[in-house]
Amino acid sequence: MTTHALFDPEVAGHRFVNIIDGRAVDGERRLSVINPATGAVFCSVPEASPADLDHAVAAARRAQPGWARSSHDERREALRAIAALLTQHRGELASLLVLEQGKPMAAALGEIDRAASQLALLLAIELRDEEITDSSGRRVRLHYRPLGVVGAITPWNMPVVLMVPKVAHALYTGNTVVVKPSPYTPLTTLRLAELVAPLLPPGVLNVIAGGNEIGRLMAEHSGIQKIAFTGSVATGKRVMASAAATLKRVTLELGGNDAAIVFDDVDPVRVAPKLFAGAFVNAGQVCMAIKRLYVHERIYEPMCEALAAIARTSKVGDGSIDGTQMGPLQNRAQYDIVRELIDDSRQSGGRVLSGGTRDSGDGYFIEPVIVADLAEGTRLVDEEQFGPLLPVLRFTDTEDVIARANATDFGLGASVWSADLGRAEAVAQRLEAGSVWINHHVGTDVLVPFGGAKQSGIGRQYSLEGLRGFMEVQALYAPAALD
Ligand code: NAD
Repeated sequence: MTTHALFDPEVAGHRFVNIIDGRAVDGERRLSVINPATGAVFCSVPEASPADLDHAVAAARRAQPGWARSSHDERREALRAIAALLTQHRGELASLLVLEQGKPMAAALGEIDRAASQLALLLAIELRDEEITDSSGRRVRLHYRPLGVVGAITPWNMPVVLMVPKVAHALYTGNTVVVKPSPYTPLTTLRLAELVAPLLPPGVLNVIAGGNEIGRLMAEHSGIQKIAFTGSVATGKRVMASAAATLKRVTLELGGNDAAIVFDDVDPVRVAPKLFAGAFVNAGQVCMAIKRLYVHERIYEPMCEALAAIARTSKVGDGSIDGTQMGPLQNRAQYDIVRELIDDSRQSGGRVLSGGTRDSGDGYFIEPVIVADLAEGTRLVDEEQFGPLLPVLRFTDTEDVIARANATDFGLGASVWSADLGRAEAVAQRLEAGSVWINHHVGTDVLVPFGGAKQSGIGRQYSLEGLRGFMEVQALYAPAALD
């Protein structure tokens, strides 16, 4: 058994700190960080107080006018330096990510590399004012201005790849930022901030670790003009309610219950590995993972068997061990939810074809679970499982499956699988989701707007559209003569 050499902050004697106004700020209280592969506390971070938040917001406000005056090229240069730091420190950051999040080392390295490449690609998008003509033929310039201070709040499933683009959107458009990572996975974010701090003017990027209460205070804070949030639908609604008092702008990237619809003209054995990857990536802890799989009756049994066969051979284990394909659930609460959903599926008549919890060991491990014969109205089908278990549902009629796929308040992603690309595209257009893929699932690109329809979110990130969500448009009318 080969284990990857991990950067262990305790062994390395590293004390994690908040970064406020370009300086390291410790806290009176500290939050424990648990390694989900062992269930044991291995590290701690400061727990930001409301006074720390005020301090961070004040620093961001002071820094913002100067940062907004810098040219696009200057901001690009600073952000490219962040991308370079991600690459330079990829091993150390990926080790921290394995320790705090649980994912396998290859996936952790992939996350760091993806964050660096996303950042670089985003900077290729030109930010320009536009000119239009009004109904009287006058020229009007649409001038895009930064909003001010952005609060970025992130979840625990992909801490780096969800944080870096938020920071990049905000800074590139001339805003300054206060970031709050999930209390479950604060380490990579704090470490990156520590590395980046000397490259930026003080106050431009502030990172504070803290729990849900600090998130709520950020959403309420009168010194913050926008919240860029990724997390659950329930928390997204709270963020929006808190933001209402100051009419803050919000971008909400929320949960999903993505349907994949598989027609009977595909070969189950060939397609099953792709479907499996789309559902079980990051142990199913991905907002746009396949969460309901609709398979045509004619290929239903062979598809279930092909998926279960892959599930049975998956190597689930500690992400630091070479060859691990799937890590543990990230935290105890999510582990308990997934266990409940497995029990509920059995009680609801589901056929559990593979996987489940382990009898031994302390980590939050669950072997990938394929459940056949469930229908709508059961928890696993109706709720977002956010874990390594997948319900496989039958269908025979195209209209019926479209209606069932759309019969949810979620609307993040969806996919259609068929050899007939014309049919697939026609079905795809009728699915109520922010992103729809044909013959693949899970995939975003910084040049393409990403976000949720219905209750899966508000606004888009990535692309010029996403960047404009961090700006205010000012209509600047052409000067008129005084008389
Ligand atoms: P969560 O909503 O519990 O927490 C997300 C963040 O919000 C954390 O930093 C948390 O401390 C903070 N928070 C909690 N209460 C708050 C409040 N009242 N005000 C402000 N902030 C508050 O989500 P999670 O459990 O960390 O992540 C899993 C969820 O995230 C899933 O539903 C998943 O689908 C979703 N997600 C969505 C996307 C996307 O891009 N659409 C990507 C990844 C994850």
